[in-house]
Amino acid sequence: MHALLAPSAAPRWGYCAGSVVLSALFPDHQSDAAKEGHDAHEVAFAIATGRVRPKNMTREMEEGARLYIDAIQSFNWPSNVWHFEEHTDAHLIHPECGGTPDAWGFHDGTLVIADYKFGHGFVDAVENYQLICYAAGVLPKLDGQQIDRVVFVVVQPRNFHRDGPVRKWEVSYRDLMPHIDHLRTQAEEALGGAPTFSVDGSKQCKYCPGRHACPALQQSAYDACERSDTSLPLVLAPPALALEIKAMQRASDALSARLSGLEEQAFASIRSGKPVPGFAIENGVGRLDWAVPVDQIVKVAAAFGVDISKPAALTPTQAAKAGLDDAVIKQYSQRPAGKIKLVPVNTSRAAKAFGKSESEK
Ligand code: SF4
Repeated sequence: MHALLAPSAAPRWGYCAGSVVLSALFPDHQSDAAKEGHDAHEVAFAIATGRVRPKNMTREMEEGARLYIDAIQSFNWPSNVWHFEEHTDAHLIHPECGGTPDAWGFHDGTLVIADYKFGHGFVDAVENYQLICYAAGVLPKLDGQQIDRVVFVVVQPRNFHRDGPVRKWEVSYRDLMPHIDHLRTQAEEALGGAPTFSVDGSKQCKYCPGRHACPALQQSAYDACERSDTSLPLVLAPPALALEIKAMQRASDALSARLSGLEEQAFASIRSGKPVPGFAIENGVGRLDWAVPVDQIVKVAAAFGVDISKPAALTPTQAAKAGLDDAVIKQYSQRPAGKIKLVPVNTSRAAKAFGKSESEK
């Protein structure tokens, strides 16, 4: 049973206080991806604590769990400072806020909050409200001890980000406090009677369970449609260009969140026997794959005079796992530059890149 102010939803209610009430009206159903994530967490917990591995453990789950445990062990702290999957009440934020961090540890003035994500979508460690809620839950347990800094760690084996699958955000205790204060204000507003809805922020509408019924998102999507029809001078000066791109990105986010919410609603309606005019449900087709064991199809193909048994060369990552020396891999591999894309600048990241701490900003 989730708390009313679940840390996992904090990346939403941390920006939109109204989302708490609206989400409660439209509870999320557990998707296959969520079920897989739950299983992967059970595997990680079992390996981290030396318990029996779950029977449904896949190789990918085991490898992901190893990456997560390596990230924790890289701190070189005694094993007894680590706590896995312990519920914490984040009363520093609100009596209704509490959840279960994947792992936390405290040693020599440093608190580490680690989060293991098995999904593909990028999760930033920087100013991650879910992890900040967990920190708010752990801090009172360290009462009386000197806390200098907090390190947030996100381990995401399936996300191929340029910063790698293990990403960290280190912040001083003093610089963390304004984030906790902000979440407290949002929490009080969320459960205080007349919360406001906000589509501005960090894509909080994208997975909001109430997005199909949200008046603020609906208005924002309509505004986006209207704005896309507005005539503008063809050549914009750079400052105007930047503003226009940001406005269009916000509009695009609002439109896709609204559209996906409406599509989900239509899907549920058709499945429950209430047709939606002009729409139907049909099965997509997956990637073509063998329906029989590989050695069986190899023999079948051989009978037809075709050799399909030769495996393709392993990738550098697979070769590393198979034991090929790192130096050899480095010499014979390359990472081609990716497609150039325009990305928004995160002020925290910019400050980090230029060596400024939070307090210097
Ligand atoms: S859809 Fe967006 S604006 Fe509406 S409640 Fe959800 S997070 Fe808030």
